[in-house]
Amino acid sequence: MFFCLPIFFGCQDTIKPDGSEQVARICPRCNNASIFAAQKKTWFELFFIPLIPFNSKHIWLCGICQFATPLGPGLWEPTIAHGGSPPPNPQGWGSPPQSFQAGYSPAYPK
Ligand SMILES: [Zn+2]
Repeated sequence: MFFCLPIFFGCQDTIKPDGSEQVARICPRCNNASIFAAQKKTWFELFFIPLIPFNSKHIWLCGICQFATPLGPGLWEPTIAHGGSPPPNPQGWGSPPQSFQAGYSPAYPK
């Protein structure tokens, strides 16, 4: 007896966010703070079911324009969006405290 059964197989990339990096970074292509670290895995799939991961790498991925670049030590890193400072507050909530800046005169002992 002989069965003629078509076998569907192929490869598929899955990308999921890497939880270790939570800082918003600037995308060089679309200039949005939408770059995040992600892990890209290539799966061997059979009958559209991912079975074996055979390639895994960390990438920077933009959630808006889908810009992607490899992530790793010594490689290019996108710039951090806010740099640790709070966003500017043009009006409202009163003025930020200026007395410290105005009266501040650095006098370091020599
Ligand atoms: Zn982008």
